[in-house]
Amino acid sequence: MIFKKGTKLYSIINNKCPKCQEGDFFKERNLSRFKNLLTLNDTCNHCNLKYMIEPAFYYGAMFVNYALTVAIAVTSFIIAFVFLNLTLIESFMAIVIILALCSMYTLRLSRIIWINFFIAYQFKDPKKI
Ligand SMILES: [Zn+2]
Repeated sequence: MIFKKGTKLYSIINNKCPKCQEGDFFKERNLSRFKNLLTLNDTCNHCNLKYMIEPAFYYGAMFVNYALTVAIAVTSFIIAFVFLNLTLIESFMAIVIILALCSMYTLRLSRIIWINFFIAYQFKDPKKI
């Protein structure tokens, strides 16, 4: 494992609760099943953290999603225009296609990144619980 437990990236990449990093954050682990890709568990099944901290909490994830989208768009444009030598129109079409394909994943990523801004990892010794 590249990212150690206790880092925010561990929680984000492995779909884990930001607080205990044991319970799953999203209900669906299989990224090819689109239907429930954005459904959160209500609470962490390990530490009981409420994932919906306040009503409309994930509204703010939209800003994270925007940043991710811009980063992907810029990267796609550079690859298409500079490295693949596509025309300007073709490069923009490539951006649209790539963003459409990534949208579910960026939405999902933005939610787990967003909650990681607010909840810090707390180590609990399993022997003391
Ligand atoms: Zn937890």
